[in-house]
Amino acid sequence: MTKTIAENVKTLLAELPSGVELVAAVKTRTPNEILAAIEAGVQAVGENYVQEAAAAIAAVGRNVRWHFIGHLQSNKIKKAVEIFDLIETVDSVELAAEIDKRAAALGKVMPVLVEINSGHEPQKAGILPGEAESLVREIAPFKNIRVEGLMTMGPFEGNPEDARPYFRETKRVFEDLKALSIAGIEMHRLSMGMTNSFRVAVEEGATMVRIGTLIFGPRL
Ligand SMILES: *Cc1c(COP(=O)(O)O)cnc(C)c1O
Repeated sequence: MTKTIAENVKTLLAELPSGVELVAAVKTRTPNEILAAIEAGVQAVGENYVQEAAAAIAAVGRNVRWHFIGHLQSNKIKKAVEIFDLIETVDSVELAAEIDKRAAALGKVMPVLVEINSGHEPQKAGILPGEAESLVREIAPFKNIRVEGLMTMGPFEGNPEDARPYFRETKRVFEDLKALSIAGIEMHRLSMGMTNSFRVAVEEGATMVRIGTLIFGPRL
C-alpha cells in the first residue's frame, strides 16, 4: 500500500511539467498514507475539513504546505486561518472580510485563491466568472488577506474533455484579472484539475492540480 502511494506520487511528479505543482488531496486518508505521499516528494497537501486537517497536521507535521480546499463554514474560519498556508475557496466578500479580520489578529497575511464556479451551476460553490473582477476589487484593499490566483472544480466525473471548456473559461478570467494589474492582487496560481481531469487542466494552463484518487486509490 505504502509503496503504491510512493510510486503513484513519483509517476505523477515525473509527468507534471515544471511550473505545475502537485497538491495531494487527502480527505479520508490516514496520517500514514499522507506521510507516504510526503516522503515520495509531495510538497503541498489539500484538506476539505478544518478539524481533520488539524488532526493530520498534529500527526504529520508542517514540512509540507497545507491548503484548504473545502467549503469554509464561518465558525471554522479562525482555526483555518491559524493552520493553513493557502485557502483555495474564497467566494464572497463576507468570507474574505472575516479571513482578513482573523489574520490581522494573528499578525499574518493569509494567501487565498478565489473559487470560480466555472460550470455556472447554481448549487455549486464559487462565484460566477463574470463576478470575479468585482469580488477581487473588493478584497484588494484588505491588508491581511492576499489573493494569489484562482481555483475551480469543474465537473467531477465523466469524460475529461467535458471539463475543458470550464478550465478554459477559468484561465481566461485569470488572464483578464492579471492584465488588470490590480494593486494588492497577485495572479500567479491557477488551481484546477483532479484525478480524472488533470491532464486537460494542465493543457489549459493549471499551475496546481489537486489529486487524491490517483495517489491513494479509491475513497472507501
Ligand atoms: C477530493 C477533491 C479533489 C481530488 O479528487 P480526486 O478525484 O480524488 O483526485 C480535488 N479537489 C477537491 C476540492 C476535492 O474535494
